[in-house]
Amino acid sequence: MPVALRPDRAPVQRRRPVTRLAATDADFVLRVTAEGRLLAASDTVRDVLGWDLARCADEGIEAALSGSAQRVAVGRLLAEAVTTGGARTTLQVTSTGGPRWVDVAAKHLRDEPERPVLISARDVTHDLAAATHLSSSELQWRVAFEHSPIGGALLDDHGAILVVNASLSRMLGWPAHELTRMDVTDVVVCQGGLPWWDWWNDLLTDSQASSTADRMLRTARGERVWGRLTAASVTSPPRVIMQMEDITGRREAELELANRALHDGLTGAPNRFLTRQWLASALEDDPDGRVGVLYGDLDRFKIVNDSLGHAAGDSLLLQVAERLRMPLRPEDLLGRVGGDEFVMVIEGVRTPAELADVAQRLAEALDEPFQIGEHQHAMTLSLGGSIGSHPDTADDVLMRADMALLRAKRSGRARYVGFDPAQDRVATRADLQLEDELRMSLASDELRAYYQPIVTMGDLGVVGHEALVRWQHPQRGLLPPAHFLELAESSGLIRPLGGWMLSQACRDAATGSGGLADAGWVAVNASPSQLTRPGVAADVRRALEESGLRPERLHLEITETALITASATLVKELHELSELGVRIALDDFGTGYSSLSLLRQFPVDVVKIDRSFIEPVLSDRSAYAIVKAVLSMCRDLALSTVAEGIETEQQLDLLRELGCSHGQGFLFGRPVPLPVRVPVPLHAPTPLVNHERRRA
Ligand code: C2E
Ligand code: MG
Ligand code: MG
Repeated sequence: MPVALRPDRAPVQRRRPVTRLAATDADFVLRVTAEGRLLAASDTVRDVLGWDLARCADEGIEAALSGSAQRVAVGRLLAEAVTTGGARTTLQVTSTGGPRWVDVAAKHLRDEPERPVLISARDVTHDLAAATHLSSSELQWRVAFEHSPIGGALLDDHGAILVVNASLSRMLGWPAHELTRMDVTDVVVCQGGLPWWDWWNDLLTDSQASSTADRMLRTARGERVWGRLTAASVTSPPRVIMQMEDITGRREAELELANRALHDGLTGAPNRFLTRQWLASALEDDPDGRVGVLYGDLDRFKIVNDSLGHAAGDSLLLQVAERLRMPLRPEDLLGRVGGDEFVMVIEGVRTPAELADVAQRLAEALDEPFQIGEHQHAMTLSLGGSIGSHPDTADDVLMRADMALLRAKRSGRARYVGFDPAQDRVATRADLQLEDELRMSLASDELRAYYQPIVTMGDLGVVGHEALVRWQHPQRGLLPPAHFLELAESSGLIRPLGGWMLSQACRDAATGSGGLADAGWVAVNASPSQLTRPGVAADVRRALEESGLRPERLHLEITETALITASATLVKELHELSELGVRIALDDFGTGYSSLSLLRQFPVDVVKIDRSFIEPVLSDRSAYAIVKAVLSMCRDLALSTVAEGIETEQQLDLLRELGCSHGQGFLFGRPVPLPVRVPVPLHAPTPLVNHERRRA
């Protein structure tokens, strides 16, 4: 290494003066030439380290270093500082009081005349010693730290990384000199932030105590690994010694175990526990949504198991699970909840017919016989179904589907049965309470009539309103029909409810100021169960008489299901009402049997195309094709058409183009209580269709 001797001259006798430097932050400060000759030093260099400053000025600081390893380390430090501008290292030096560990930083001061290197060093002996119980031998500790298979770091109280060992560097992929420029939070992923800082602060205040936490760590390659951090703090100066153990493998194993606890080992399908959880969150996630549940049980599975053995049984179950998955969408859940019991959870099911359709496809998936060894086996499935919506619990819906399954088994197996409250009476406690409350609501004036405008597609003039029931529940607030209609049907309360709505709507439609007297027709919904008993015509007649509303201004909205299952009496009554002048609208067209022949057999005046076709009409080719066909057929039959659920201008434009005559949807107005604001132009309640001709 360069020594400040000039070979062409005799050694200089006069010693060079060494300037005194104040040791500020650091314990030792030195200024040396690039070759290592001492230019200036803090007093501590002489007093604590015992260096001969004059000799260092002449011969270079190497003269004061005892071992060759130290000399090499300092030589490297200076060379690196001169080439890169700055460098750091940790090394052991000999002091008057014995060996000491120092963290050394070197900075090349290129702008100063002698282009010196400024070296500042901090005594970290105490920190390192304090962090271990090996205070007797710092060297031993240092060796243990450096060669530990566990990552280790020394941090200051702000989290700046001061020293790291090779294992940590390897684990995180950053070289040591880069890590020592980083903060611990550059390495630890502080999800949520706060818990991390709580942990850090506790660590610093409760010194000497060690504390452990599992954290996600960030590697140089951008990957995430799991680390178990064990840390202890020491004071004066405040430091944290941290060990980081890579526990990624263990964490993954734990996750795998958790996963296994939630899945069936044979088929890999969610088990009963997970299926139930899934259903519960599906019900909670979308309070307005409806979730279909199918409960399936293989018919006579026990025979296969008993006659061919468990291996054959397992093979069959595996194949069944695979086939049942096929007709389901990726977002649907297939769970195995018992030996040969499967549960399918299907979100977004709107009608019982839709659920029955899925059940049909599941049954068909098992049509082909199963190959078990050399044998072929036919296997059938019994299915029960139920649709749940908020505030049903997962158990409510599962229980209903299970009850329906029981009926499917009893009535001959290999079939699907939908839950029917009349036959599968399993009212839950919540149901019973709500039912009581609903019964009282009728008496205590809690039902409300809301009105949503219906417009002509031509100039968007309002021609009428649909009356939609709401329940102003004293505790739960305003409830939409989805929350209580099913219950009203199953408990028989739909009749008084329907009766109330009919009279209210007729009264509102006949009332002048604040009412709907000038607002076209009013459409009232009648559910299938309301129509099963004779007397509809009489009810309507009475409501019209009491309110004084002209029959032409009343529309009765009935569903396809009601027509399909209509008794001869109902057909007669509908004709009677039609004669009287009341218009019949076929509601939710497309969601039931969508039988076009219905339109010819019954006195239908208006067809309301269900929102489930209007919503995707721009994006879904088959929805578009259906809407187009229905509209063209209605035109041929001279029927009016109402597109339900129009929300965008684009839908409006397309439906107008396809020849739809009327529209209803949030684009024109949401359902609101009276008084409704009727925008101009308001159209006179002219007949929607050529009524006379249709009656002829
Ligand atoms: P519905 O007869 O098909 O009534 C139309 C439903 O679609 C209403 O829901 C309405 O608020 C909603 N809607 C209208 N335009 C839009 C739109 O642009 N976007 C969306 N997302 N929805 C739209 P509501 O009021 O919740 O009623 C639901 C169903 O409850 C009705 O469907 C009807 O079948 C039944 N219902 C309502 N009131 C009564 C009633 O008094 N008696 C009977 N039996 N059933 C009723
Ligand atoms: Mg309706
Ligand atoms: Mg509808």
